[in-house]
Amino acid sequence: MSSFNGKTIIITGGAMGLGLATAKVVAQKGGNLTLVDYNQEALDKATAEIKSLTPDAKILGIVADVSNEEAVKNYVNATVAQFGTIDGFYNNAGIEGRQAPIISYDIEVFKKVIDINLLGVYYGLRYVIPVMQKQGGGRIVNVASVGGIRGVVNQMPYVASKHAVSGMTKNAAIEYGKDGIYTNAIAPGAILTPMVAEAFKQVNPADPQAAETEYAQRNPTRRLGKPEEVGKLVAFLLSDECSYVNGQTIAIDGGESNLY
Ligand code: NAD
Repeated sequence: MSSFNGKTIIITGGAMGLGLATAKVVAQKGGNLTLVDYNQEALDKATAEIKSLTPDAKILGIVADVSNEEAVKNYVNATVAQFGTIDGFYNNAGIEGRQAPIISYDIEVFKKVIDINLLGVYYGLRYVIPVMQKQGGGRIVNVASVGGIRGVVNQMPYVASKHAVSGMTKNAAIEYGKDGIYTNAIAPGAILTPMVAEAFKQVNPADPQAAETEYAQRNPTRRLGKPEEVGKLVAFLLSDECSYVNGQTIAIDGGESNLY
C-alpha cells in the first residue's frame, strides 16, 4: 500500500471505533490527520494513543458536532489552514439511535439520527469537495452500513440514513468524478466497536455477551469484524493505490449481506 507521506486526511468520529482504527493506519503511513469528534475526552485519549504508536504523527484535533453546518465549515477551514490540502476525507461519524419498532419510534431520536448520519455526511461533502476541486482531486469514503443495503429490525432511522449515505455516494461520484474526486462508501456488518457493544446491551440488557455470541453465529464467518480490518480497507480506498473505483458501496461484513 502506498504511503500517505505529505497527505492530509480528515476523519470524522475519529476518537473511537472505526474512525480511530483508520487514523492509526494513516498515521503509521505518514499522513497528517485532522480528527473531528464531539467527545473531547475520547478525542484526547485517541490522540495520545496514536502518538504512543506513531510519535511523529501530526494530528489536529477538533471538537465539533458534524450535524452543525458551521462546525463543519470550521473543521474544513482549520484543516486547510494547518496542512494546506485535504487529500482524503473519511466521512465516518454516525450514531445508531435507540432500537424501537416503527410505530413507536421516538421522533426526536429519529430526527437526531438523520441530522448526524445524513445531514452530517452531506455537510462534510458540501465543504470538502470545493477544496478537493481546487487542488485537482481527492478521495472520499463515506460510511454506510449493511443497514444501507438491507432492512434492520427496529432501526428505521438508521436504515433510512445509511441508504441515504449510499445514494449520496453515487451522486458525489457522478457529479465530481470529472474533478478527480473519487467517492465511495463502505458498508460494515457488525464490527466490535463501542457503538456495537451498546447495541448488544439494548438487544439483551441482562446478558449483552449472549446477544453478541448469538449474532456472531448468524454470520457466514461465525465471528464479528475487527475495527482494524475496516481500517485497512478504508486506508486503501483513501490511497492512490485505489483508482477507478467510484460511487461504490463496498460491504465489509464477512458475507452477511449475501445471506438469504
Ligand atoms: P462508535 O460509537 O464506536 O464511534 C463513533 C465516533 O463518532 C465516536 O467517537 C463519537 O463520539 C463520534 N460521533 C458520533 N456522533 C458524532 C457527531 N455528531 N459529531 C462528531 N462526532 C460524532 O461507532 P463506530 O462503530 O466506530 O461507527 C462509526 C461509523 O460506522 C458510524 O457511521 C456507524 O454507523 C458506522 N457503522 C458501524 C458499524 C459497526 O459494526 N461498528 C457497522 C455499520 C456501520
